[in-house]
Amino acid sequence: MRAGIVVTGTEVLTGRVTDRNGPWLAEQLRGLGVDVGHVVVVGDRPDDLRATLAFLAGLGTDLLITSGGLGPTADDLTAQVVADFQGRPSAVDHALEQRVAAVVDRLMARRGWRADPEATAAGVRKQATVPDGATVLEPVGTAPGLVVEPAEGRDGPPVVVLPGPPGELQGMWPAAVAAPAVRAVLEGATELHQRTLRLWGTLEAQLASTLREIEPELAGLEITTCLREGELEIVTRFSPEARPAYDRLVDAVTRRYGDTLFSTGPTLDDLVAGALVDRGLTVATAESCTGGLLCARLVERPGSSAYVLGGVTAYANAAKRELLGVPADVLAEHGAVSPQVARALAEGARSRFGADLGVGITGVAGPGGGSSDKPVGTVHVCVVGPDGVRERHLRLHGSRTAVRERSVTMALHLLRELLLGGPPA
Ligand code: ATP
Ligand code: MG
Repeated sequence: MRAGIVVTGTEVLTGRVTDRNGPWLAEQLRGLGVDVGHVVVVGDRPDDLRATLAFLAGLGTDLLITSGGLGPTADDLTAQVVADFQGRPSAVDHALEQRVAAVVDRLMARRGWRADPEATAAGVRKQATVPDGATVLEPVGTAPGLVVEPAEGRDGPPVVVLPGPPGELQGMWPAAVAAPAVRAVLEGATELHQRTLRLWGTLEAQLASTLREIEPELAGLEITTCLREGELEIVTRFSPEARPAYDRLVDAVTRRYGDTLFSTGPTLDDLVAGALVDRGLTVATAESCTGGLLCARLVERPGSSAYVLGGVTAYANAAKRELLGVPADVLAEHGAVSPQVARALAEGARSRFGADLGVGITGVAGPGGGSSDKPVGTVHVCVVGPDGVRERHLRLHGSRTAVRERSVTMALHLLRELLLGGPPA
């Protein structure tokens, strides 16, 4: 079974808003055994939406899903375009109109908004205009969703029409999946597993040649590799029958790349958080060039207060001295960007917060500020903890953002290595 997703919205097309619906829907569908062949982004232009629906339906797609364009305003055109596409006339559903009106009234009262009643009523009527024979998905916000099948005598996939705001779309998804036309498609789907192997320090080209060599043993696996911030991810999708082939892949990767394979599933952040929780340890950070990015990444996950005590962003030397106790003579002798200062930052974070582990990061993120012995991209990272010290001295390439992000990833790998062993950071 294959699905196509059409994400509508000029704000998404232009990059003002990053698409969160396409990836989310693709992941849900994958879990239901439906392969997503295309996620197409189109602006708020009816001709482009129409052409995209026709293109995807022409590929033999079993299910089409749209997001966005269900609002009350003139640029919200999806319901009308889909009705035309499926050859169905639309009419106002009066019961639905009343339900939407009630939601809108409540919303306006709560927010204290006033609007011209006639304009509001016109917007509500528009949102309650439903293609003949469509399944209505009850509004989560104000806009109802729809499942629209082709009109009698026409071929083609059903189209699921969902609102643009991600919270509304996600809230409506269970109802969409339960709609009869969608259930009929899902009955033909088989479960698809997805697993990820994560390597740190293997070259993509090297891995590709290994995969080519063992290709005959891997029938039934769809393997994609992705290099991200120095981590090589091998993402494999397979149906339950191909499980033995996947086990052969894991064996082969473990045999050849065991020294860089750091995870057969969990992300780096999962591994570090899990190890801190399991061992009941706490961590604190002292960051210069990364300006708090490491601490922010550590507290991204719920429950992180169990192991993150805090962090200091110490950009100026005075802050390094006064807030973290970095000795003035170490700063004077080695400079702020030095292994000695990274170590003193880590120790300062550990002792000032009373944490089990301390992390220090100092470097030259660029694009200016480099020198011949400390060029842009020079970064020193140090982790101190009950099991010892891990430190790395890096010469990173790329933009200021790339240098800072890579430094944070390196710090997390050092934490992983110190807490769990495994491939060296
Ligand atoms: P509304 O009633 O809010 O107009 P709608 O169904 O017409 O709902 P859109 O107008 O397409 O939806 O989008 C409303 C807002 O939802 C956008 O401005 C944007 O902030 C968010 N949004 C829409 N599509 C996406 C998307 N693909 N990814 C992330 N956010 C989105
Ligand atoms: Mg809109």
